[in-house]
Amino acid sequence: MVLGGGTGGTLIANRLWRLLGPGSAEIVVVDADDEHVYQPGLLFVPFGLADPAGLTRPRHRQLRPGIAFRRAAIDRVDLEQDAVWLADGTSLDYDVLVVATGARLIPEETEGLAGPGWMEKVFTFYSLDGAVALRSALSRFDGGRLVVGMVDMPVKCPVAPLEFSFLADWYFRRRKVRDRVELTFVTPLDGAFTKPVASRELGGLLSAKGVNLVTEFNTGEVDGQTGRLISYDGREIPFDLAVMVPLHGGQAYVDRSPGLGDELGFIPTDEQTLQSKARPNVFVIGDAADIPASKAGSVAHFEGEILARNITSYLTGEPLDAAFDGHTNCFIETGFGKALLIDFNYDTEPLTGRFPGRLGLPLLRQSRLNHAGKLAFGWLYWHVLLPGREIPAVRSPMPAAGKCALPAPGPVQTRKAR
Ligand SMILES: Cc1cc2nc3c(=O)[nH]c(=O)nc-3n(C[C@H](O)[C@H](O)[C@H](O)COP(=O)(O)OP(=O)(O)OC[C@H]3O[C@@H](n4cnc5c(N)ncnc54)[C@H](O)[C@@H]3O)c2cc1C
Repeated sequence: MVLGGGTGGTLIANRLWRLLGPGSAEIVVVDADDEHVYQPGLLFVPFGLADPAGLTRPRHRQLRPGIAFRRAAIDRVDLEQDAVWLADGTSLDYDVLVVATGARLIPEETEGLAGPGWMEKVFTFYSLDGAVALRSALSRFDGGRLVVGMVDMPVKCPVAPLEFSFLADWYFRRRKVRDRVELTFVTPLDGAFTKPVASRELGGLLSAKGVNLVTEFNTGEVDGQTGRLISYDGREIPFDLAVMVPLHGGQAYVDRSPGLGDELGFIPTDEQTLQSKARPNVFVIGDAADIPASKAGSVAHFEGEILARNITSYLTGEPLDAAFDGHTNCFIETGFGKALLIDFNYDTEPLTGRFPGRLGLPLLRQSRLNHAGKLAFGWLYWHVLLPGREIPAVRSPMPAAGKCALPAPGPVQTRKAR
């Protein structure tokens, strides 16, 4: 039984169906709704670069024939009974459970964020509704202070707010109002990104594009009436329009499932085998896991190859010998038809060179080829990733071929808030 029919749930169900062979296992996917949103496309909606309707497809159609789709909200998991209770009062038994219910946005956890001004002066592009509302707010914005902020880590695709800042610079230049817009990127981290090398590179790009970078800012309150972000240590950042990435947590049903999750609602998981720490017959894929990898679709994709092998081993009583190395791969849109690519894992920082080999896409360097890669990813998502197919030459273990040494260190400019 697979809980969640998003990126990870769909691809693991399809991979297992193929690996185990039709008819040899009963595979059921449970999800609360039948609308699968291509989340990386949300970044483009506020800038009029993606049609919201084109980002959504029916979930059940992404599953191979023979996989059952059950549309129902999950109420709780009973680990003692190997059963899942649904909100309609029925229950389903399982032999093996895969938790793929992702992460939840919890704006109400930050004082004022979802209060007055929410969806008027304060927006998020991390949901389809939010991205659509932000599109019309941005089109009316002709000048003033635009702040892009992350409340705290972990978040899905931690580079997406940076991409938003780069695209905002491009958007306002195209509209010839850039000189009237003050752009500020606000982060709780001590640099633009979590990984020092990429952080230096991305911090340099923010500075080159005239985007202020405010680091170590832990947002405690958002005042959407007077237009202020207020940190726990009393600093303030004024804004006319704020684009926020709310706090993320696991799903609420996890709290109602004794022994399954941690205090944030994420599932304690072995970072290599992807087996939960709660029970040997419970596995985890994607954003729901507490592992030290990025919360990204690319991670769910690389995990899928490992997890399908380990679940097959579990079913046949063999040792779980496939190990996930934390491989993450992100295209970072930088505006003006260019993008940058980073590739890393648990042990290796993003390196320069090419991916997936000597003749591949340039790493840590802006290029039109990477932008084309980012756009092509949308097609690959529906036609290769979700159906559980392999991308030629792009496998789960992070490749070393084509990679060079770290780039020389350079200064990063940051600005402290008042
Ligand atoms: C703006 C944005 C940009 C992004 N850009 C990129 C990118 O460029 N590259 C990249 O690799 N990743 C990107 N991501 C991240 C990527 O989309 C996620 O990491 C990925 O979708 C995680 O997959 P998942 O299966 O863990 O969760 P999801 O795909 O979110 O699926 C979780 C599923 O669980 C279901 N569910 C939850 N709770 C319940 C319940 N109680 N009952 C029933 N069903 C439930 C949900 O309905 C959902 O279908 C981006 C994300 C966002 C928001």
